[in-house]
Amino acid sequence: MAIRLSSENRVYAFARGMAPAATVDAGETVILEARDCYDGQVDLTRTPLSADGADGSLCNPATGPVFVRGAMPGDMLCATIEKIDVAPVGLIFGSNRDWTYSAGMAVHIEDGKVALPGGHRVPIEPVIGVIGVAPSGDDAIPNSTPGDHGGNLDTPDVRTGSTVYLPVAEEGGLFGVGDIHALQGDGEVCGQGIEIAGSVTVRLQVMKGTLGPGPVIDAGGHWAVVASAETLDEASDIALLRARDFVMARTGVKDHEAIMLLSTVCDLRISQIVNPLKTVRVCIPKRIAGAW
Ligand code: CA
Ligand code: CA
Repeated sequence: MAIRLSSENRVYAFARGMAPAATVDAGETVILEARDCYDGQVDLTRTPLSADGADGSLCNPATGPVFVRGAMPGDMLCATIEKIDVAPVGLIFGSNRDWTYSAGMAVHIEDGKVALPGGHRVPIEPVIGVIGVAPSGDDAIPNSTPGDHGGNLDTPDVRTGSTVYLPVAEEGGLFGVGDIHALQGDGEVCGQGIEIAGSVTVRLQVMKGTLGPGPVIDAGGHWAVVASAETLDEASDIALLRARDFVMARTGVKDHEAIMLLSTVCDLRISQIVNPLKTVRVCIPKRIAGAW
């Protein structure tokens, strides 16, 4: 029977030395219940919806941390998302790009579909916004911020069926997830997906060796090599160099050949442009880089 961790066990930053909320063996499945990105501070029954008075320091809680036995620095923690269940009601605050207005609405899910503006009813495709482990540096990284440890990646490839590989910096990994989106497009341009509480069923394994210095996602049909930086240009450069190395390591081609493959059959995609660091990913088809 899988361990179930309630959202009472939550952190607002990933940091070295976090006290584990649970300890599991590598290969175990855990169910992590997660609050919405406002930590449940927004009353979903109120009209109009308002986040006034919400404590920003409580945003993006991640449930955990989970200590995985056998995960050591230098390994990758492999988190296979088996299932994402979501609450019946979520929310979205839409802001324009200069943040001069913000309006929110509660979003109801019926028959697996969300009701969006314009009368559109769209099937949900839950995404995990925050997924991470303890970082390598001494400073805690708030859950608002993505990085090589994971964190606020807001990357739509982090969905049911995907495996997220995260570099282990501290024994046990210290894994956590939160910030579920019932639906999110690439870019997350207004700052939010359909923000919603829920639970994540995830199998935690350990891979000896590395896939690179940052998150890598096995998204089924493709690999996604992820990087975050202050600008999209910087993030793109980092992601492309990592993707080049990934392709070289997996196929044996030379560096310029790997770049040619990236330019012809791979996609550079924007995950999000709204967090303190921006996140992009290079998507490499499995026919190029193979299954693990
Ligand atoms: Ca987020
Ligand atoms: Ca979010």
